Amino acid sequence: MTSPSQISVVRRGLMLVLSSPSGAGKSTLAQMLLREHPEMHLSVSVTTRERRPSEIEGIHYQFIKRERFEKMRDAGDLLESAEVHGNFYGTPREAVENALAAGKDVLFDIDYQGTLQLYEKMRSDIVGVFILPPSAGELKTRLERRAEDASGVIEKRLKNARTEIAHWREYDYVLVNEDLNATFINLQAILAAERLRRERQLGLPPIVERLDQELATLTS
Ligand code: 5GP
Repeated sequence: MTSPSQISVVRRGLMLVLSSPSGAGKSTLAQMLLREHPEMHLSVSVTTRERRPSEIEGIHYQFIKRERFEKMRDAGDLLESAEVHGNFYGTPREAVENALAAGKDVLFDIDYQGTLQLYEKMRSDIVGVFILPPSAGELKTRLERRAEDASGVIEKRLKNARTEIAHWREYDYVLVNEDLNATFINLQAILAAERLRRERQLGLPPIVERLDQELATLTS
């Protein structure tokens, strides 16, 4: 479903944040969204975690050493950062600021700690979406099916799922991902509605002014 857009109205870019416990389908939904909306910019995080076999440097993450991460964080080059599952993750500031300045919407795949930092800094630009798995069993199956993490890692991720899920109330929207396509339709509905928020449509005043003048002429 491609959402109809009001191309003629200049709009302020939004920051669409997706969070979920590992294995709830967040990355798949993010990929589907980017395929359907190639005009969106994906924020590529830096991480100190090991690269998984299927991951590509610069596409999924920038894989960096801990020292470089600390330097970036201390220099203020990260918009937010957090420790997740014993590794460090962060959002490079410059790429996000450039995309927003170019009027693009930016997509984030980050955890609740990072989301809270973004909410604090840029509340009105953030649209936070939390994705829940339909059940714990389904979450475990999905992690095992991915089969890219050792079993100890999977156990750690399941334990961390409870911590992550405890933060569902801090988000604007919550989706229970039982059926991927249904969840995707709902995610696109959120995006379409948020793009149309009055305060994001910076180009509205001249349009309304013109309308008013036309009406004044018609009725004078
Ligand atoms: P994974 O190691 O499975 O790729 O990611 C683990 C968790 O870290 C996921 O919940 C993911 O959303 C989160 N994450 C990825 N990048 C960032 C980031 O830049 N900042 C924060 N706060 N979390 C991130």
